[in-house]
Amino acid sequence: MTKINANFLKLPGSYLFSEIARRVNAFTEANPNCSLIRLGIGDVTLPLAPSVIAAMHEAVDEMGKKESFKGYGPEFGYDFLRQAILEHDYKARGVELEIDEIFISDGAKSDTGNIGDIFCTDNIVAVCDPVYPVYVDTNAMAGRAGDYINNKWSRLIYMPCVEENGFLPKIPEQVPDMIYLCFPNNPMGTVATREQLKVWVDYARDNGSVILFDSAYEAFISEPDIPHSIFEIEGAKECAIEFRSFSKTAGFTGTRCAYTVVPKALVRDGASLHALWARRQSTKFNGVSYIVQRGAAAVYTPDGQREIRENIQYYKENARVIREGLSAAGLKVYGGVNAPYIWCKTPNGTGSWDFFDRLLNEANVVTTPGAGFGPSGEGYIRLTAFGAAQATKQAVERIAAIL
Ligand code: PLP
Repeated sequence: MTKINANFLKLPGSYLFSEIARRVNAFTEANPNCSLIRLGIGDVTLPLAPSVIAAMHEAVDEMGKKESFKGYGPEFGYDFLRQAILEHDYKARGVELEIDEIFISDGAKSDTGNIGDIFCTDNIVAVCDPVYPVYVDTNAMAGRAGDYINNKWSRLIYMPCVEENGFLPKIPEQVPDMIYLCFPNNPMGTVATREQLKVWVDYARDNGSVILFDSAYEAFISEPDIPHSIFEIEGAKECAIEFRSFSKTAGFTGTRCAYTVVPKALVRDGASLHALWARRQSTKFNGVSYIVQRGAAAVYTPDGQREIRENIQYYKENARVIREGLSAAGLKVYGGVNAPYIWCKTPNGTGSWDFFDRLLNEANVVTTPGAGFGPSGEGYIRLTAFGAAQATKQAVERIAAIL
């Protein structure tokens, strides 16, 4: 009789977004004429930049001609895109990489999820709390998380990120083998300074741990001294893997393109993690479409850069409107300066879900309850800056009016 991966049976189900959808549906059924404003899910709303579209059109035409048609591409990505990434995202910041240390993929979600394939299932994993749920669930699927008891996995190290520690994780008591860090952070919108990241890099090197660094939101960093890449920190190439994405940088959430950097200097257990990831990807992944990679490369042209910066600026302005508007309404807000997320403390210790319900029912605004991202998210809600500017302004006015 076939046996299944029983770790899947331990998963608590996708409670957060399905529960939000259930409550929103119940509300709209009861109030069919009410106009809801959705600042819950972190998806972009502006269309792809004209340069990206032009490059993709051109690539489509190439695919339609015998002389320029392309079949299977290189599974780690075309060099035209890897070279552009190398120059613009790394060399320009003083980080030297080799082109084959960059692996193009279809998403930071898949890569942060799949990276576990190259690590032993006995490893101890540390995650921030609250956290992007993919890190937790994929480790649970692999059997690294133990059992789910009272909203926590028994084998995971949770690093609480709360008001008292500035929403930054502290070095845990037990030494983890794999450490997930995400800056700028989803859901809290916080960033780490060079000095703060250096502490983690030194710790990982001293203890033989690996940092899995998700910088999907680096394009939203506004403050000049905040590192955009973990590899800006000395020694990081010997202890870190970095995940990046075109999703939020250039509106590719529906188009799909991302990349992961695995330095060749990263060796654990006598093995090159670069070689293991290359082996994993060449076996299980067949590359991102040529058309999409041409679109992604256009992001790095002067016009592409100008266009995506305009879009990012639009979202950053939304973030400012939310941050300042809610703050003026008497709420305590964090994030939103170097990230498209605003982490808002609920008033008078109200529970996350209670405040979510109140905003839904009274202000007709959809948010995300912080508790859905982990136990330490209780008492917070997350708002995203990815909405339309007018609707965002209106949502803030509505929230202010009910408080
Ligand atoms: N990493 C973080 C922290 C995210 O919040 C998200 C998406 O919301 C992703 C990765 C997924 O990115 P992608 O669209 O490249 O799969």
